[in-house]
Amino acid sequence: MPDLTPYESPEIRQALVTMRRDLHQHPELGFSERRTSAVVRARLERAGLEVRGLAETGLCADVRGDRVGPTVLVRAEMDALPIHEISDVAYRSRHHGVMHACGHDAHTTIATVVAERLAKCRDELRGTIRFAFQPAEEIAGGAVKMIEEGAIENPAVDAAIALHVLPELAAGTVAVASGPVWAAVDELRWTVRGKSGHAAYPHQHVDTIVVAAQIVTALQTVVSRSSSPFTPAVLSIGSIHGGTTWNVIPEYVEMHGTLRTFDPQVRERLMERMRAISTGVAMSMEATCEVEDRYSAPPVVNDGELALWMRDTLVPLHGEDQVAVSAPSAGGDDFAFFAERSRGCVFHLGVRNVERGITNGLHNSGFDLDEGALPVGAASLDAILRTLLARI
Ligand SMILES: [Zn+2]
Ligand SMILES: [Zn+2]
Repeated sequence: MPDLTPYESPEIRQALVTMRRDLHQHPELGFSERRTSAVVRARLERAGLEVRGLAETGLCADVRGDRVGPTVLVRAEMDALPIHEISDVAYRSRHHGVMHACGHDAHTTIATVVAERLAKCRDELRGTIRFAFQPAEEIAGGAVKMIEEGAIENPAVDAAIALHVLPELAAGTVAVASGPVWAAVDELRWTVRGKSGHAAYPHQHVDTIVVAAQIVTALQTVVSRSSSPFTPAVLSIGSIHGGTTWNVIPEYVEMHGTLRTFDPQVRERLMERMRAISTGVAMSMEATCEVEDRYSAPPVVNDGELALWMRDTLVPLHGEDQVAVSAPSAGGDDFAFFAERSRGCVFHLGVRNVERGITNGLHNSGFDLDEGALPVGAASLDAILRTLLARI
């Protein structure tokens, strides 16, 4: 049997569930995590840790071991999503239209409880563990702000890690792998401009609806024809708006979408093709197309050595069968900015429970997690941190 003690003790199990439910009931959007931040700060201070506020609602607290050693940062996100929760569980969101649908309530809870426990074990630690409670991951602004305000300095961080819940993985299971985990995220906006006028006289105008439709179709060749079948990439258009009524050709059409890539060279090539096709198709139809790009996160590529050390830690803890190999996802996470500045690695925590109907995906309005996974996540994080401090 895996030794998850002391996180399997009834007191800590209860503490994990109580805190997670409290945060789940009070979800807050990016840079508004005031209550969440206050809850975490109070607990860390009670555990004797010095807490530094940064990035508006973010927090950092260091657990300094008695012996000198490396510094490992753990990132835990605190923000929720603008989604209305549909579950009828007793601990469902009390904030209309806001919900913890990405498991950040669990991440914050696990990091807090592990910090509390490690604060009591400084004599066993060599080096420093920095617990970084980050705001605004979902709107991709929190990590950069944390870094700008000193989250990875004094002492300089040698490695950054994070855990993320995964509803595709059974509760009780964890996963890690070296290599790409999350994609680079480009947020794209297209503005197609033509010439508006009466819909009955299209020959006198430039029909932006027709131009936009051609652009959407032509963009389908960006990934299929310009990147290797062995290098994953996605280009999706999530919204398209144009016109106000049935008998007028609109002056402009706006589209909003995203490009996801794992390799900087592939990204550069696909961005170039996307721009050339968008502007070229527009020009061929006497319209113009302006493309704006917001590069919201680089890819997260797990460091091979850190991933190996994590696996070496997780297998004896949970058993070989319970440690899966993480699959890359085209989702993105601004943890990438931490991982870019030092070595980085993310591991996954399974939260699925088919018998209890806990199967909804991340960002789903019915998302929930099997709370039995909380002690598994906490024990994993605790053990991984100890390994990394010992090996780096
Ligand atoms: Zn999310
Ligand atoms: Zn998330």
